[in-house]
Order: sequence, then C-alpha cells, then structure tokens
Amino acid sequence: MGSISVSSPNKPHAVCIPYPAQGHVNPMLKVAKLLHHKGFYVTFVNTDYNHQRLLKSRGPNALDDLPDFRFETIPDGLPPPDIEGTQDIPALCESTSKNCLAPFRQLLAKLNSSSGVPPVTCVVSDGVMSFTLVAAQELGIPDVLLWTTSACGFLAYSHFRHLIEKGVTPLKDESYLSNGYLDTVIDWIPGMKNIRIRDLPSFVRTTDPDDIVLNFLATESERATKASAVIVNTFDELEHDVLKALSSVLPRIYAIGPLHLLLKNIPPSPSLSSIGSNLWKEEPQCLQWLDSKQPNSVVYVNFGSITVMTANQLVEFAWGLANSKQPFLWIIRPDLVRGDSAILPPEFIEETKERSLMASWIPQEKVLNHPAIAGFLTHSGWNSTIESVSSGVPMISWPFFAEQQTNCRFACNEWGIGMEIDNDVKRDEVEKLVRELMEGEKGKEMKRKSMELKKKAEEGASLNGPSFLNLESLINEVLL
Ligand code: UDP
Repeated sequence: MGSISVSSPNKPHAVCIPYPAQGHVNPMLKVAKLLHHKGFYVTFVNTDYNHQRLLKSRGPNALDDLPDFRFETIPDGLPPPDIEGTQDIPALCESTSKNCLAPFRQLLAKLNSSSGVPPVTCVVSDGVMSFTLVAAQELGIPDVLLWTTSACGFLAYSHFRHLIEKGVTPLKDESYLSNGYLDTVIDWIPGMKNIRIRDLPSFVRTTDPDDIVLNFLATESERATKASAVIVNTFDELEHDVLKALSSVLPRIYAIGPLHLLLKNIPPSPSLSSIGSNLWKEEPQCLQWLDSKQPNSVVYVNFGSITVMTANQLVEFAWGLANSKQPFLWIIRPDLVRGDSAILPPEFIEETKERSLMASWIPQEKVLNHPAIAGFLTHSGWNSTIESVSSGVPMISWPFFAEQQTNCRFACNEWGIGMEIDNDVKRDEVEKLVRELMEGEKGKEMKRKSMELKKKAEEGASLNGPSFLNLESLINEVLL
C-alpha cells in the first residue's frame, strides 16, 4: 500500500484477489508473480485481517510496494476470530459472497483513478470469489477464476447442483453417515470412475438442505461458466480425463500447474522473490535437522492450515508414530486440537526425542524437496498434494474436509501414491501404514510411482511443456 509506484502506463494491469485462506493465498501469489514476470502490473488484494497477519508473520515491510507490484486490502466483513488463525470457513464463505463486492468495486475505481497506475485490464480471482465477475463485467474487462482445488475436486463441485437435484445430497438423516449409503457408487459423472459418495467433497455429507457451504459451492462452481476462463493448479498428465471432462463444459480451462515448478522455470524478478504468503511465522530450523538425517528416512507429518482434530486423535497419531520407530518431523499448529491446546504425552516425547522434531509451521515446499523426506502423512489439501507429487513423495492420507476426500481417492486409487487412514484414527493403523510406507513392498511401489509423477510434473512445467504453454495461451487468448 502506501505510496504509488511509478510504472509504464501501458502495462496490462491484473488485479489478483485470493479467497482469504492459506491454501488459496499461496497459489494466487504464484499466479501473480508469473503474471508480473510476463510484463503485467499486479495489484494483489488481501483481506484486512490477512494483511495484518502477514505483517506479523513476515515483518513490517513485507507488503511494501515493489516495482509494478502493489498490495491492497478489502474487509472480509467479519470480526477477527477469537483464536488467531482459526477461521470459520462457512461464515467466511457467506461473508465474502455478501460483503466483498462493494469494497472490491471501490478498490477498482480507486486504482483506475490513481495517477502512476495503469488502468486495470483484467481480474484474476479465486474461483470461490465469483462476486468479482460482476465488477469486472461493469468495467468490460476479463475475469479469470483460479480454482485452487484439484481438477477432480473442482469437477465434483461442478456437479453439486446435479447431486442435489438427484437427491444424493443432503442426506435424509444422520443414519446415512453409517448405514453404507456413503459407499454408493456414483457412475454418471464423466471423467470420474468408481467414485463413491464418500469420495466426493465432504460437504455432501450434510443433512441440512440450507447448508451454507454446500449451496455456496454449488453456486460458485456454476458461475465458473460465466468467467472469461478458469485456471487450475494441476497438469494434464496427472488429471487428463478429469480435465477433458471439464473442458467439454468450460472450453477455456487452462491447467498451469504445478505453479511452484513453473515459477522455478520462469523466476520472478529479484525484488519479488522474497514476497511470501505464509500467515504463520515459519520455523526453517527443521531444514538443518533434516540435513543430519539419512536420505529417504524421515516421515513428514503436517495437516495444513485448517484441519483440526480431537486431543484423542492427536494422541493416537503420536503413539502410532512412536511405535513405528521411524524418524519423523511433525508440524503441530497452535490451534490444531479442537478447542484445546495440543498436549502430547510426556512419555511419547521422552521416547521419541532422539528421532523426532516438532515445529508449528515450516516452509513446506523446501521440506518436501529435502532428500531426507521419505513420506508425507497429510490431510490431502490440494496444495500439499501437488507439492508432494512434484517432490516424488508418497503419502498417507487422513482427509479432513472439502475436496480432500476426492484428492485422497485419486492419490490412492488413480495415481497409486497414497494409502488412506480411517477417520477414526487408531495408533495401530498409523504404525502399520507408516511401516508399510517406509519399509514395505507397497511403500516401494508408491515411491516408484511418485518418482514417475515427479518427472511428469517437471516436464509439464518445463519451458515449452504443456503447463507453460497453457500459461502463454491464457495470457494471449484471454488476458491481453
Ligand atoms: N504450508 C506451509 N507450512 C506448513 C503448513 C502448510 O508452508 O507448516 C503450506 C503448504 O505448503 C500449502 C499450504 O500451506 O501450500 C496448505 O494448503 P493445502 O491446500 O495443502 O491445505 P489447507 O491448509 O488449505 O487445508
């Protein structure tokens, strides 16, 4: 914010606006950096709340204007959460869709009347911030939606309306959660084979016809057809059938992932490379600890920015890890345990202290790329999944919510690089799966497949690879 940076008045100007959660801000910042590299003037719009968190986690100058790259904020319409960082996702969905259009419109008007700033020529908005389509249409400029989910997750969301119309969701009553209904196979979604109701995004498990998130996602995914184009952080070799099915409804869908690999090949200008988006303060010391470990020897455990668990589930994971006897790096966010602080049994700490390290937030892309990492116990958020795929790291998946269930299904069944842990997690199962991942035949096979996919991810994002070419087409066909 602050003073306005001088720039060429003729540059195309992209306003990038992520949904205000970690797993959405990260990929949007990467898209913003790529566009900047391609000659765009970029305005990156955070919510007031996230802006303050970024200043806290990254330092007071972290969001200063840079040449042709500026930060702006709008309110998300909610009071700050009681516990720092713990966002109420349904409330945030409701609030952004109702309250953000007016301030966004004002922001665009302000940018368009600021001297030294080129006129706004396009909007790149999160797929679930589709109110931006109205503002872009008023200005007669293109609006591209970035769906930060997997393509398979997005495909599932885009069938939410049909699932509601066909009576698949909402569930008749709670008994449907345990009477075998969730194992029903849905065989009419093109691009998805053998998908059970339990593999669809978790929001279909509601019993409430007015469920905020179910209806929100049905509407938001429908509105993708109104956008100038849709972009997804995936690559064709990984999700070919799904992308093909999506492109029959959305002719302008561009797979431009893995975004972080693309950024490695077309690096941002030095002034931009230090801009980060972690809302929690990073603890990079774990990288030195990993340096002291043998290659392919450490289990990495991290459940992302939103997952919460019970104190009992935390203890089951702890003893499962301890009993596996494998070295591990476990990231425990301060708010990971629902309504409580995460307290680990002292005996567990004592028993594992020689071969474990705990931290609360780490630079995940670097960790996953460290040669010591052998496997990833994850909640299967899409960013974590695509980062793991890009690093050739097989996964044990404990999906929490949203399309994590779908990601887990694809990782385990389509790509052969994952094994699922039951939601009702038990220490014996954690131990068994960790041992299998690290020492078993299945673990070896998963590693082999993961390395194959890593190679394909790298090829996709290489100069003249399909993701790279898709980015070029997006810019030339839609944004310019
Ligand atoms: N992340 C990180 N450090 C951590 C935990 C997460 O840098 O300790 C990053 C991770 O690399 C990913 C994002 O936060 O880019 C989490 O997104 P994801 O879609 O995996 O899960 P979500 O947090 O949305 O559930």
